[in-house]
Amino acid sequence: MQNEGGTQMAGLDLSHRTILVTGASRGIGRAVALALAAEGARLALTARDAQRLAETAEACHAAGAGAVWTLAGDVRDRDFPARCVAGAEAALGPLWGLVNNAGVGHYTPVEELAPEHWDEMMEVNARAPFLFSRAVIPGFKARREGHIVNIASVAGTTTFPRGAGYCASKWAVMALTDVLTAELKPYEVRVTAVCPGSVQTGFAGSTPKPWSLRPEDVAEAVVQAMTARTGVIYNTIIMRPQVPPEAQA
Ligand code: NAP
Repeated sequence: MQNEGGTQMAGLDLSHRTILVTGASRGIGRAVALALAAEGARLALTARDAQRLAETAEACHAAGAGAVWTLAGDVRDRDFPARCVAGAEAALGPLWGLVNNAGVGHYTPVEELAPEHWDEMMEVNARAPFLFSRAVIPGFKARREGHIVNIASVAGTTTFPRGAGYCASKWAVMALTDVLTAELKPYEVRVTAVCPGSVQTGFAGSTPKPWSLRPEDVAEAVVQAMTARTGVIYNTIIMRPQVPPEAQA
């Protein structure tokens, strides 16, 4: 399709492209998997909970996925990301996309934040995206195409009390996104950070607010970035819910 100026409008077709989604057992990751399935993508899905992962896989088949492969595992296991990427490519062929979505949050003042919780947030939210990216980059560079989407957070663009470890991990993934953008641009590989505010998932034990973003809203942003026509890079997408005036402090 062309616009009046004669420039190319058609977006990228995701059908037959293979995309790995982490944290696909529930919440935003599940919604992203379903939205990509509706585009006909071939999906590699991972999370720790094998049963919920199988349920997501079944729903993705029903939604139109070209193929679905799953591997249950813990992204804190240093060898897991490379093993997952190798397994996905053996089962489905070369990966085109990666959505680093798995995440955890622990919100407490610094002096009460358990070192184990700091480590968990850094390992799941920041180190795992680095390790998954590290595993896909050689193939993406060799094929001169690909897209890495990091589900960061508005907590990666600002800070708040009780958010030291969570914000640090999300600022780390924002820095990773920026560096990857520069390193991979010469190879026509795109990198995007999606930064939602509050989403209705019960993340970190939170009580979902009726006005919060829906997981499907975040999934739509991921699809928007991934289907952008060649030549367009959505670098950072910041999304906030419209909080009703009476709910604002
Ligand atoms: P969620 O419903 O709690 O889902 C988190 C996902 O991460 C689950 O699929 C979980 O799967 C996976 N996960 C957690 N620890 C893991 C580990 N060690 N190994 C493998 N998988 C692991 O949370 P969500 O709201 O969908 O959050 C998804 C992402 O969005 C996170 O990166 C989060 O920081 C970000 N985010 C969320 C919000 C929000 O308000 N909800 C706002 C901004 C950004 P298993 O438990 O099955 O392993």
